Amino acid sequence: MSASSGLRGQCDVCLHANNSHTTAPCPANRCRNRWKRCQVTGGCFRASNNWTYRMCYGCKDHPAAEDSLDFGAPRQKDVTRAQKEHFKQTGDAGGQTSGGELTSSSPPLQSSSP
Ligand SMILES: [Zn+2]
Ligand SMILES: [Zn+2]
Repeated sequence: MSASSGLRGQCDVCLHANNSHTTAPCPANRCRNRWKRCQVTGGCFRASNNWTYRMCYGCKDHPAAEDSLDFGAPRQKDVTRAQKEHFKQTGDAGGQTSGGELTSSSPPLQSSSP
């Protein structure tokens, strides 16, 4: 079963096709960030027993909004350019890693480099 969203390109976070992702606007007032989840068959997480959808991008300003997202919009849009830039610079998309944790709660990797 395919749940194609029609989005082009590929996801910066998990490298699966954007077509296998759906996005939702952050429901917080005036927030322009978008949430983006991966729906590839078999799941996106590295753990083979985790078949739930992986949240690749989340809104870092409103993490609590995760409970009230609407991924059913007929016209899908990718996350904002600002979110992509932020992910490029920090490696933190506000979503989940392939291990299933939230990226924002992981310690910085390059803390000890000179
Ligand atoms: Zn993804
Ligand atoms: Zn994926």
